[in-house]
Amino acid sequence: MTDTADIVVIGGGIIGCSVVYHLATLLPRDTRIVLLDRGPIAGGTSGSCMGHLMVTPDTPQDYAFSATSVRLWQQLHEQVGGFEHNPTGALYLADAAEDLELMPILKRQFEANGDRCDVLDGKQLQDLEPGLAADLPGALYYPGDGVVLPMFACGALLRGARAASPNVVIRPGTGVTGFDIQGGRVAGVRTAAGVIQTRRCVNAAGVWSPELGTMAGLPRLPIYPRAGNLAITAHHTTPVRTQLLEISYLRFAHGAATVDPTKTDEDPGGHAVNLQPQSNGSCLIGSTRQFRGMDRTLNPELLHRSLLRAQRYAPGLAAAPIVRTWVGLRPYSLDKHPLIGPWPHLDGMWIAAGHEGLGISLAPITGLLLAQQMAGVATAVDHTPYLPGRIL
Ligand SMILES: Cc1cc2nc3c(=O)[nH]c(=O)nc-3n(C[C@H](O)[C@H](O)[C@H](O)COP(=O)(O)OP(=O)(O)OC[C@H]3O[C@@H](n4cnc5c(N)ncnc54)[C@H](O)[C@@H]3O)c2cc1C
Repeated sequence: MTDTADIVVIGGGIIGCSVVYHLATLLPRDTRIVLLDRGPIAGGTSGSCMGHLMVTPDTPQDYAFSATSVRLWQQLHEQVGGFEHNPTGALYLADAAEDLELMPILKRQFEANGDRCDVLDGKQLQDLEPGLAADLPGALYYPGDGVVLPMFACGALLRGARAASPNVVIRPGTGVTGFDIQGGRVAGVRTAAGVIQTRRCVNAAGVWSPELGTMAGLPRLPIYPRAGNLAITAHHTTPVRTQLLEISYLRFAHGAATVDPTKTDEDPGGHAVNLQPQSNGSCLIGSTRQFRGMDRTLNPELLHRSLLRAQRYAPGLAAAPIVRTWVGLRPYSLDKHPLIGPWPHLDGMWIAAGHEGLGISLAPITGLLLAQQMAGVATAVDHTPYLPGRIL
């Protein structure tokens, strides 16, 4: 069977769904956009993660990128709806003295970007969250963060895309097996069900994006799976109401990894607490980080350590039954920035991948920047730091 499309998007995770939504809303209605996923929608990392919408103020560029995206989530919730979105804010918890040193740094970063946050002492923290350990010295509360349920958000983005354009086609269960390249440009996308003739495609395949890049003859994309073990408690057992993370998470999870992601047997792994109370009263507990290839089996020892650490902050978790544990693979990009834009040496090949632990937060801005570049219009924020050509 041969089909045609103006644009083929490969990967039905949060990034591919957002790309499809923004293409459908920005390009003319007769643009035929086909989304392919070899499994179900949200069957990859976007179905095995947490949903913290996190504003990262490390640099003005990071702030503009992430804060715009988190605002876009709010707009999507108002305009498209159909998914859980809670603008809860986030509490950054301190434990040791060196954690307290991070508070003024983070506060200055938010304020330097014209934003605000509040530093709470131990008493104020207890008043706000009585389920936390009584001896915690304090926290920083940032009101701008939120939480979504990523799987429903994927569905909502695709419903929004279909509402915007009758020419959006969604094909789960359709794996890409290769590309047709003619005269130095993309001419088609091959699947087991046949070829789709197209002059433009988007590789939004998360941790599998290097595999697809190689199929198209690109050098290996520098994106590596970074495993995260998660656990969730039974309904109505969460001891806390606000989304929480230990402030040392910033040291652990931001910036480049201190281990070589290609040496998958050398990373002992680490963890930093992130607690997300759910609307059904369960508590999602994360998370660990470890490079060990595409291995999605649980690391019980690392998970156990991370659960004990979570209990240090919220002692009530010790009595909350864990009903499910699982592992997701973050698409870690070597320079910690996603790849968003055209591949410079193959006309028609676009990439949107490599968001590590922030892909849910950054999905709207990623889809918007990619669609704006494809449409040839000005981008909402500076898109140049994310251009894929930088890896060459
Ligand atoms: C433990 C954990 C916690 C996290 N917590 C957060 C958080 O709180 N906040 C946040 O912002 N981010 C978080 N993340 C990060 C976030 O989940 C990811 O960055 C994001 O889900 C990546 O989305 P994606 O669309 O790029 O990839 P995926 O969701 O993996 O989608 C890629 C899709 O490509 C498809 N595919 C692969 N190969 C092919 C092929 N040959 N043909 C067709 N389709 C193909 C796959 O089936 C898959 O569905 C977390 C991640 C983990 C693991």
